[in-house]
Parts: sequence; C-alpha cells; structure tokens
Amino acid sequence: MIIFKKAQDLTQYIENQLNNGKKVGCIPTMGALHYAHIELVKQAMTENDIAVCSIFVNPVQFNNITDFEKYPSTIAADILQLENIGCDILFLPETAEIYPDGTANPPYYPIGYLDNTLEGAHRPGHFQGVCWVVDRLLQIIKPHKLYLGLKDYQQVMVIKKMIQLKKYEVQIIPVNTLREAGGLAASSRNMRLSTNGRQQATGIYETLLFLKKHIKPGELKELEQQAVALLTLKGFKVDYVEIADEATLTLPESWDGKKKLRALIAASLEDVRLIDNMQITE
Ligand code: AMP
Repeated sequence: MIIFKKAQDLTQYIENQLNNGKKVGCIPTMGALHYAHIELVKQAMTENDIAVCSIFVNPVQFNNITDFEKYPSTIAADILQLENIGCDILFLPETAEIYPDGTANPPYYPIGYLDNTLEGAHRPGHFQGVCWVVDRLLQIIKPHKLYLGLKDYQQVMVIKKMIQLKKYEVQIIPVNTLREAGGLAASSRNMRLSTNGRQQATGIYETLLFLKKHIKPGELKELEQQAVALLTLKGFKVDYVEIADEATLTLPESWDGKKKLRALIAASLEDVRLIDNMQITE
C-alpha cells in the first residue's frame, strides 16, 4: 500500500493511472477503522483497479468541538488493517492539504431541504462540512466510483445532491449497513461505549425492528412516540425518531400504505451519539 500525505502527489499519481485506463474507487473515512469500513474497501478493490481509502477527521463537519476532540483515532491499527487486505492507496492528509486556503471562508452548497432536516437540524452546518470535504476528495482523487455506507443514509443523499450540483461524473456505490451480532450498526463511535453500553446500544436496532413490525397505513405520530418511549426506557437520550419518505427524506404525517418509508434514529448512550436507519416498508 502506498501512503500519500500530500494532495498534489496523490493527484499526480492518480492522473498517471487514469491515463493508463485504470479505474479508481474511493472510500472516504474518518479512520478508527472497523469491519464495515474494511468491507467497503474490499468491495472497492474488487470493482476497480485502484482502491483509494482516505482517513481524515474533517474538522468542518463537527458542530461540537468536544465531539471532534473525542473522535477516536487508531492510525497505526488502521494502516495495518488496510495493508492486510492489500488496499492500494491510503490518503492520510493534514488539514492544510484538504483546505489549503484555510477554513474561515467555506463554500456554500445549496443542497436545500436536506441541509436542515434530521441530522442537519441537530448538527447545524454538518452537511456543508461533509459536502466540502467530499468535494475536495473528489477533486484530489478523481474516482470513477465513490463508496458510501447507508448507515449514514442522509449523508448519501446529500453527497448525491452535491455531485449533481457540481456535475461530477463519479458514480455513488451505496453499501448496506453492516451490524454486530446483536444488530448494533458498526461504528467508530462504538469503541467509546462500555461493554454494557455496547450491549444496551442494540436498543436502536430493536427499535427500528419495532417500527418495521408495527407500521400500518394512517397517522405515524403515535408510532414514533412509542419508539421514543422505548428508547428512553432502554436508557437512551433521544435526539429524534422519524419516519421519512425514503426517496426525499420528507416527513409525512401519515402513510398511504404504498410509499416506501425509512425510519431514522439518533440517540445517545453514555454520552456517545449513535445514528441508524432502516427501510420499514416493502
Ligand atoms: P466514517 O468513518 O464513520 O465517516 O465512515 C466512512 C464510511 O463508512 C461512510 O461512508 C460510512 O457510511 C461507512 N460506514 C460506517 N459504518 C458503516 C456500517 N456499519 N455499515 C456500512 N457502512 C458504514
């Protein structure tokens, strides 16, 4: 595996490869790699000539400085894991490589409704920061395919919108959520939970299954409230439980029995904020 720290060096390397007709897949991450990240990298390796994994804890997507400072970092172990599976390239930039002009004057991405709902409502500015870093990574790496996990469902929609706005030709490859044995979605943040907390955190998955089991045509509010109560009983501090139109992420008040719906949850346990989602209708 080649490790690049300088954006310019990586771009030059990639451009040579592109000139030789190679296909490039990109897997952006914030490190503290777990098996879901590794699955994304493996998929990119099988579907492209070159898999470029990036590790960069993007400061501009954190609206909470403590959250940024507490974000886990396991660089040595990450490099080992990537080497073990034979990943081609790791991009490991400093902040100045991603934002050479600083971060004081961020660009604005008109991503509309998605910016201010669900995660956007609870983490103001978060998705602008996500757009900015992915925009930069696409400029630096110029991949054919971009691998994104559906655990961050809204993020996939936001990046899709940004790609449309910027008219990039990259293809998004959405990857299904990978879960631990009890159903907890794999996440770097899980390593901040105690052993008990990790067990308890399966409550989010159980609540998603509860919503899937009980969804029926008509008003949705009561079911959402029941889910909030369930999570609260399981010890979570709930940010939101929402049932959304899967295609637009708008929040209908009732279900016609036809539209595809997705439930999205954000809740904290032991001061660790976790998110998850699930399609709850066929
Ligand atoms: P992160 O390092 O958390 O920013 O994640 C990097 C990429 O891995 C994102 O596209 C995530 O959606 C994806 N990812 C993280 N956890 C999972 C998971 N449990 N299943 C599938 N994809 C995931």
